[in-house]
Amino acid sequence: MINSSLKSLSTALQAKTISSVELTQEYLNRIHQFNPTINAYITLDEAKTLAQAQAADARIAAGSADALTGIPFAQKDIFCAKGWVTTCGSKMLANFVAPYDADVISQFDAAGAVNLGKTNMDEFAMGSSNETSFFGGVKNPWDFSRVPGGSSGGSAAAVAARLCAAATGTDTGGSIRQPASLCGFTGLKPTYGLVSRYGMIAFASSLDQAGPMAKSAEDCALMMNVMAGFDERDSTSVNHPKEDYSRDLKQSLKGLKIGLPREYFAEGLDTSVAKVIEAAIEQYKKLGAEIIDISLPNTSLSIPVYYVLAPAEASSNLSRYDGVRFGHRAAQYDDLMDMYMKSRAEGFGAEVKRRILIGTYVLSAGYYDAYYLKAQQIRRLIAQDFTDAFKKCDVIMGPAAPSTAFKIGEKTDDPVAMYLQDIYTISTNLAGLPGMSIPAGFVMSEDGKDLPAGLQIIGNYFDEARMLNVAHQYQQVTDWHMKMPVMPEGKQ
Ligand code: GLN
Repeated sequence: MINSSLKSLSTALQAKTISSVELTQEYLNRIHQFNPTINAYITLDEAKTLAQAQAADARIAAGSADALTGIPFAQKDIFCAKGWVTTCGSKMLANFVAPYDADVISQFDAAGAVNLGKTNMDEFAMGSSNETSFFGGVKNPWDFSRVPGGSSGGSAAAVAARLCAAATGTDTGGSIRQPASLCGFTGLKPTYGLVSRYGMIAFASSLDQAGPMAKSAEDCALMMNVMAGFDERDSTSVNHPKEDYSRDLKQSLKGLKIGLPREYFAEGLDTSVAKVIEAAIEQYKKLGAEIIDISLPNTSLSIPVYYVLAPAEASSNLSRYDGVRFGHRAAQYDDLMDMYMKSRAEGFGAEVKRRILIGTYVLSAGYYDAYYLKAQQIRRLIAQDFTDAFKKCDVIMGPAAPSTAFKIGEKTDDPVAMYLQDIYTISTNLAGLPGMSIPAGFVMSEDGKDLPAGLQIIGNYFDEARMLNVAHQYQQVTDWHMKMPVMPEGKQ
């Protein structure tokens, strides 16, 4: 069952060839076997999980099942889930039990899905390797000496190692797509505002967006049907009509115009990853697509712009962790100011502190115009680049990440090298556009391991159904997305 699509799991559940309790137990067994090594899940609550599975079985028996009823999912620990410890990968929230559900969680609950547990992540979603988590790193199931990518590293490893049927993630600058590329699965960051941010712990509010992490585009479409939708509790939620994201999967790609941005194939892209992407483009030509040369001239400015804007927003969002209402509070302090300072000094890790410092600096009087305002202006230019490009093509393709998975510890002392992991993903967040990464092949590492690489598909605003169609058609003629890592048995 572990390599089955969501559709076939649903069919099996509704035909009662397997119960949700049995399926859930199968995943829990795998989690017991592999999670001590991989560290994908940081919170498990089997009683709650199995109770949901029982409720799903009752719903199936009553004949009122939906497409995802009874299917076990992993939830990134950035989503508040009532009664579950919800940490966002931080010591600051290590003991925080969410008093309410994020919209994403309640949508999965309403669909009758089962929550297998909360997954590890970079602290407050800041990172590209999962190494900033207070709960320790996550191992890439393709090679335990390498990172899974980040910040949704736990969900990524859980999907790749088949420790869940599929998972949720969030993407502020690439955190669904970069791990999808490094772990070899299909991940989608929707158009900004399509999925509610209610109850999703904020990092950079104008960029954060939740999305599905699954084996295939077909699976992602089913999850989007559950996750997307207007929510008046999120002031940036877009009142976009409900769609069936599976509706166009079978459409032919004849005549599809694919734009290839020159800037995405320039210096900085690993030559072996470039080969994988070129082969995927060839496959699209065979499917009838037309290739168009395009330019996104401001691509090189996307990282500097992001590292002004995201820290600025983070410094504001994270000011709520003051040790007063919730979160970590220092045990000993002299007065109120000392309590704030000690609680924050103890509760936040180094990367989070770096971002708060940068963010506070760029927003401060005298520097605001030079940094924050300038970055907002360039953000507009980056969005305009895409608007111009979409006059010439239907979708844009390129790599999702510049390299395959790197070694644990390889980039921890060099934040800029780490930041460059998102060079091909960050500009879509700045523009609010949807992007996805699909498995497109493997690259042999210097130490003889097959490591996955992802093709990125960027679509126009609200064009997710077409992107999923474009991905699905490729997945009908290739089987990269079905490949599973061979994992050593038991603990390491
Ligand atoms: N790697 C980027 C960062 O560290 C993006 C993270 C994300 O998308 N959450 O901010």
